[in-house]
Amino acid sequence: MNAANALSTAAIMTGALLFGVRAPLAVSLSVTDRCTLRCAYCGIWREPAEELGTESLERLIDELARLGTRRLTFTGGEPLLRGDLGVLVDRAAARGIFTAMNTNGLLLRERLGELKNLDYVKVSYDGPAGVHEAQRSGGRDHGEVLAGAAAARDAGIRTALNATLTRHNVGLLPEIAGAAASLGVAVDFNRLSPHARAGVGLEELEPSPEALRDALEWLSTHARRSAVSCSPPYIAYLRGTRGTPAPCRAGRLFCYIDTRGDVHPCFDARGRVECGNVSGGVLAAFRRIPAMACARCYCSAAVEFNFLASGNPGSIMNLSKWI
Ligand code: SF4
Ligand code: SF4
Repeated sequence: MNAANALSTAAIMTGALLFGVRAPLAVSLSVTDRCTLRCAYCGIWREPAEELGTESLERLIDELARLGTRRLTFTGGEPLLRGDLGVLVDRAAARGIFTAMNTNGLLLRERLGELKNLDYVKVSYDGPAGVHEAQRSGGRDHGEVLAGAAAARDAGIRTALNATLTRHNVGLLPEIAGAAASLGVAVDFNRLSPHARAGVGLEELEPSPEALRDALEWLSTHARRSAVSCSPPYIAYLRGTRGTPAPCRAGRLFCYIDTRGDVHPCFDARGRVECGNVSGGVLAAFRRIPAMACARCYCSAAVEFNFLASGNPGSIMNLSKWI
């Protein structure tokens, strides 16, 4: 996000909060459930939903732009499995929307030529040799992921790694942050989300409470002096020293749209409330999202956005670090 975009987004956010306007300022849009990987903690790829076609997605992007969307994150599955991803990114960029993408990184190098208008990419990277392969199965080397991230960085796309904490990598935060620092990119950390696994237990992957406590203590101590992009309030929330996140702005300022076009509060809250499909109008479905106050948020992006939208100084300072 460049400074001008950040300022205008902040202005819209403030106005929306002051005057109670409900606008989908930040939208995560899943464009496919298909994936090249079979991660141990994910079940998205098991039953891929029907996908919206290119024209439907272009119309949706136009509608989002009219509604005031400032940031659109293409996600999945693996978004780069869609041949039209560059077309969709271009469409959003042409409408003045900041474009972001979550990816496993394996197709990045071969598809970069189509992503000239991508502003930000978050590449999933769970750790060094052995760890990454143990929990992100697909027969590909973790080095390919880092090479994809490096290529995106070289192409001028703001790049961050994203690591999901499990018992395999919970003791390796310094190494993961070091890999990001070596590349000159940021790194974000997520807790395991029970919602991504489609009902299959995660017990065997959960870190022990002691190992998690040590890891989060390291994060708290070193985040400011490292490549870590997690904000102080988010880290405090992860550590449990801050019991509840800021008020949830799902349905007020952000939402998640799944592969079929169904609208949800966020990725983790899929299926909890019936909101409707984009075919009936995005705004109508967005406004059906009730006030949300879930017992636990797992998605770092949603938690960070909620802190930011509540004007948390630590979040604002942290954002400025990465502009
Ligand atoms: S976590 Fe991401 S990369 Fe892994 S299987 Fe799920 S969608 Fe694919
Ligand atoms: S999981 Fe968190 S971000 Fe998602 S709807 Fe619930 S409170 Fe909001």
